[in-house]
Amino acid sequence: MPEVIDSLKNAQRQVDMIAKYLKVDEGILEKIKVSRREITVNFPTKMDDGTVKIFTGYRVQHNDTRGPFKGGIRYHPDVDMNETKALAMWMTWKTAVVNIPFGGAKGGVQCNPKEMSEGELERLTRRFTWEISPFIGPDVDIPAPDVYTTPKVMAWIMDTYSIIKGRAVTGVVTGKPLELGGSLGRFEATGKGVVIVTAKACQEYGMALEGARVAIQGSGNVGGVAADYLNRRGAKVVAISDSKGGIFNSNGLPLEKAMDCKARHDRFMPEEIGDCEAITNQELLALDCDILVLAALGNVLTAENAGAVRAKMIVEGANGPTTTEADEILNDKGIIVLPDILANAGGVIVSYFEWVQNLQELLWSEEEISSRLENILERSFNEVVTISKDKKVPLRMAAYILGVGRVAKAHELRGIYP
Ligand code: NAD
Repeated sequence: MPEVIDSLKNAQRQVDMIAKYLKVDEGILEKIKVSRREITVNFPTKMDDGTVKIFTGYRVQHNDTRGPFKGGIRYHPDVDMNETKALAMWMTWKTAVVNIPFGGAKGGVQCNPKEMSEGELERLTRRFTWEISPFIGPDVDIPAPDVYTTPKVMAWIMDTYSIIKGRAVTGVVTGKPLELGGSLGRFEATGKGVVIVTAKACQEYGMALEGARVAIQGSGNVGGVAADYLNRRGAKVVAISDSKGGIFNSNGLPLEKAMDCKARHDRFMPEEIGDCEAITNQELLALDCDILVLAALGNVLTAENAGAVRAKMIVEGANGPTTTEADEILNDKGIIVLPDILANAGGVIVSYFEWVQNLQELLWSEEEISSRLENILERSFNEVVTISKDKKVPLRMAAYILGVGRVAKAHELRGIYP
C-alpha cells in the first residue's frame, strides 16, 4: 500500500519545527498555521458531446497580512482541499522570504486537462472564474499559472473577470500573454530563478555548476526552462522526465532533440531522440548525480525513497516535493536541500513585477526585469544562508525562520481586531 501523505500536516509541522526560534505569541503562531478563507465550488460545464459535467474547484486564501493573497491555480485529477491548503500556506512563506508585499493563496480544479478539448477547458475556466469572482481581484487575491494551467487559461480568467466588472482588469491575474498585460520574462521566471539560486548555492558550498551532472524530474514550465538555463551555464543534464517516465545518459542528454521530441509527441521517446535510455521517475530520483532538480509534483521524496537519493544537492523547483520525514533523512545524509519557498520563488517575483506594471500601466524592459529578479533572489538567498549559519540549521529551517518570522511580525504590528 502506498503511503498516504497529509500535505497540510507536513506544512504545519514545518512551522512547529521553527517556532522555538521566533519570539512570537503562541496564539499568533496558531493563527498563521490555518487559512483565513477556504472556498469550495461545485459547478457545471458543458462538454463537447452535449453532456453536463460537475467539477469541483477550490480557492484557499491562507494569509493576507502583508498584502493581497497570491498564488497559482492548478488543473489536475489529484487536486484536493488538503493539498490546496498546504500549497496556499507555502505561498505565504514564499512571498515573505523574498519580501514582496503579498500574502499566500492557492486554487485548483479537480479535472484531467489532458482529456479535455480546448473548448471544454475554456468553459470550465470561465465558469470557475465566475464562481470565485466575489473573492478575487487586483487588490484582493491574484491567481497565476500552476500545473497544467497556461497563459491562455490566464487570459480566459482575465477576460471573464473583466466582463463581470465591465472594464479591462489586467491586474486580476498574472502569467498572462504579453499582448494582454503579461510581463516579459514571466514565462521563464521560475525555471530561471531555480538556476540563479542553484548557482548561488554552488558558489556558497564549493561545488562547480559547470560540468555538474543534473537530473531533472518534470519538464514543464519549471523543469523545461531550468534544463535550458542549466545547459547554458555548462551543467550536464543527464536525465529529465515527465508524467510518463524519463530519459537518461550519464554523459549528458541531447537536450534540444529531447525537448523537440517532447513538444511534438508530448513524451520522451528514446528511440527517436537517440543517445539515451528510458528510466522511470523513481529511478531518476535515485540517480548518481550532483544535483537533483524536483520540478513536477509534491510529496515525491518520502521516508520510503529518500534514503536512495545519491545527489549532493536537491533543488525544489516544485512546491512541497519533500515530506518532513524525507527531509530528516536527507539532512542526515548531508545533502544540501534548496527549499521550495526560496528556490522556486522566481515565478511569484516576476508575477509581482507584472502586477506592478499592470497597476501603474507601465512596461518594463527584459533587462530591468532580469536584473531586479536576480537582485531579489540573491538578497533572499544571502539572508537565508546567514540565518542557517547563525542558528546552525538547514536551509529549509532558515527560510522558515525568515518567512514565518516576517508574517508573524506583521500580525503583531497589525494587532488582533477588534
Ligand atoms: P507544468 O504543468 O508546466 O509541468 C508539470 C510537469 O510535471 C510536466 O513535465 C509533467 O509531465 C510532470 N508531471 C506531472 N505528473 C507527474 C508525475 N506523476 N511524475 C513525474 N512528473 C510528473 O507545471 P509547472 O508550472 O512546471 O509546475 C511544476 C511544479 O513547480 C509544481 O509543483 C508547481 O506548483 C511548481 N511551481 C510552478 C511555478 C510556475 O511559475 N509555473 C512557480 C513555482 C512553483
